Amino acid sequence: MLVQTHLFIPGPTNIPEAVRQAMNIPMEDMRSPEFPKFTLPIFEDLKKVFKMKDGRVFIYPSSGTGAWESAISNTLNPGDKVLMSRFGQFSLLWVDMAERMGLDVVLCDEEWGTGVPLEKYADILAKDTAHEIKAVFATQNETATGVSSDIAGVRKALDAAKHPALLMVDGVSSVGSIDMRMGEWGVDCCVSGSQKGFMLPTGLGILAVSQKALDANKTSKMRRCYFSFEDMIKTNDLGFFPYTPATQLIRGLRASLNLIEAEGLENIFARHHRMAEAVRKAVAAWGLKLCAKEPKWHSDTVSAILVPEGIDANNVLKTAYYRYNTSLGTGLNKVAGKVFRIGHLGALDEGMIGGVLFNVEMSLLDCGVNIKAGSGTGAAAEYFRSTATKSATGVTEASEKKAA
Ligand SMILES: *Cc1c(COP(=O)(O)O)cnc(C)c1O
Repeated sequence: MLVQTHLFIPGPTNIPEAVRQAMNIPMEDMRSPEFPKFTLPIFEDLKKVFKMKDGRVFIYPSSGTGAWESAISNTLNPGDKVLMSRFGQFSLLWVDMAERMGLDVVLCDEEWGTGVPLEKYADILAKDTAHEIKAVFATQNETATGVSSDIAGVRKALDAAKHPALLMVDGVSSVGSIDMRMGEWGVDCCVSGSQKGFMLPTGLGILAVSQKALDANKTSKMRRCYFSFEDMIKTNDLGFFPYTPATQLIRGLRASLNLIEAEGLENIFARHHRMAEAVRKAVAAWGLKLCAKEPKWHSDTVSAILVPEGIDANNVLKTAYYRYNTSLGTGLNKVAGKVFRIGHLGALDEGMIGGVLFNVEMSLLDCGVNIKAGSGTGAAAEYFRSTATKSATGVTEASEKKAA
């Protein structure tokens, strides 16, 4: 293939060259005396990404789904009552897992395009004076609908009710791209994975846990083996793992953490916001609507775009793929055929966003959507120009001269 398929799905995301090269190494001995010098700093650097006050981070050779399972199986008891909400394919799957693992789910079924219902949560928690609810779950970024939820708001609801439940957050498509303040917000388990904001291949389940979650682990009677915190802690403290770690992926993680540190988390969040805003400007200029019902739900990592009545979103996806060499995200479950998604997280700059908007514009026109060529790309260009301070990568003429 002459040119790589332009990848604009919300994970796996584009892998920076430095990360890809860091993984292109010979196999290594994961029990060598040198190995802990490599692994121990990674655990510490991950804590900075999650903005933790206490606790620790586990790295599993699994996808994000494994970290979901780890969070549940390590901190709760069979039959525990938990508060969850469902408003998209990912929040739906976590609910499904919780039920299959034997939890008693108090469920808020919300309209797709909205997010965690803070008022309902506050109400349910206030009424639960016996503290039967042992954990409250929230999907920070619902990848299927492009909806972000207010995790600080969930913490407020818990505090207002003086409720001691654990706070479990799915941050798979937000951590490293949208602010996550585990310490400040009192998040007890934050689930992530390698193939989204961390800009790596799929294959690492990353779970950050507070000291409170570690304490809950001591009395948790859920069955667990592969994901057991106890086994991990025994070996992780020495810089090793209870089974063969995905060493190449962890080498890549090292490179990714270096990039994150060099750019700075706040700059990364601002860049994601800017990329997302440009996409939203284009959507508005096309006269189309997002699946997210209100601006407060807008996600800075993925936009789910509704196609007009009578148009099949799958046709747009196919056209983009076959005619313009571009992968967009499909509509999942309830929104299949109704939305296509543009993933705008990870290693992206203005030109890449401009490129995908250009290809989406042509695909929409080819599928009979009544838009004007250049309208969306033009709106995005104007937005980028009016907000430009420096290039997305932080490289300036001055920094180039210095490097030379
Ligand atoms: C991708 C994703 C998951 C699932 O992760 P896998 O790595 O596919 O197991 C869970 N939650 C959210 C919000 C996601 O975006």
